[in-house]
Amino acid sequence: MTSSILPDSRLSILPAAVSLLLEQIVQQTYPASALYVVATPIGNVGDISLRALHVLGKVDAIACEDTRNTVHLLTRYGLSKPLLAAHQHNERQIAEQIIVRLQKGERIALVSDAGTPAISDPGARIVDAVRNAGLRVIPLPGACAAITAISASGLLNDQFYFVGFLPNKTQQRNTLLASLRSIAATLVFYEAPQRIAACIESLVGIFEGERQIVIAREVSKLFEEIHRCSLSKAASWLDHHAHSEKGEFVVLLEGAPNFTDTHADEVEAKRVLNILLAACSVKQAASLAAEITGQKKNALYAMALKMKTQNTD
Ligand code: SAM
Repeated sequence: MTSSILPDSRLSILPAAVSLLLEQIVQQTYPASALYVVATPIGNVGDISLRALHVLGKVDAIACEDTRNTVHLLTRYGLSKPLLAAHQHNERQIAEQIIVRLQKGERIALVSDAGTPAISDPGARIVDAVRNAGLRVIPLPGACAAITAISASGLLNDQFYFVGFLPNKTQQRNTLLASLRSIAATLVFYEAPQRIAACIESLVGIFEGERQIVIAREVSKLFEEIHRCSLSKAASWLDHHAHSEKGEFVVLLEGAPNFTDTHADEVEAKRVLNILLAACSVKQAASLAAEITGQKKNALYAMALKMKTQNTD
């Protein structure tokens, strides 16, 4: 026996596991008249599920963002299928064609160029139309750059806020970013290589420098890099790393530090005061509301007074 994990053992172990799984997958049900939303790899050709491969081989046609990319992908897996070009400019029309075909009992798959359709990619309009037509939509989970980057970030926050691509124009980008300053969840951005430096510059100008940032580049590919540092050091990291402005990026930014959700506090205070004011004076209502909500009595008194006046006007 050899302890090598190279070709021999690979060839003996993997096919057995794969054929066992394939047997189960082939026996599962694949309803007709359904749209299959299939995630494809974000770089590494191995990151596709066996179920996805089976469905891509079984469907009558594949609606895809760019037929050249999908032909290339299918060829790598030894597959060939009729393709329907479904990009952001023709989603509505193609949705109608897909619905007609589904109503005839066909199975159609929807893929994007990479990752999960409808995540910063076309697909949502087609899914919406198919659902509205009362037809079934079956998702096949798989790679998504945002989720993959979060999983390797080590940022200790269960919540994230997916922003996706930022506007190209500096002013629009900064306005959008400023509106995200108080969000406590991790912020998730997609960025293209030619804009990564401008994106970091905008982040540095708007958010606290001590927030952690994760720059995930070329995830699952040969030159994968997942760098984490404080925001104040991010620009210099980009400057000092050859190749750091090449490839595809997910940028994660730690949520607002010690953030209290003032809007949620206000809504809760109003709800409590509303009940109390029906039975108590302004002073009593403010005092009880302070005990119930833990908010400041003076602020609650001012709010109660305003509510009372508005109600009596
Ligand atoms: N639908 C895809 C998904 O599920 O993630 C996203 C498609 S969007 C058009 C493409 C963007 O996703 C890229 O510009 C980049 O921001 C991000 N992305 C895709 N693949 C990536 C990878 N391998 N590494 C880092 N970011 C990636």
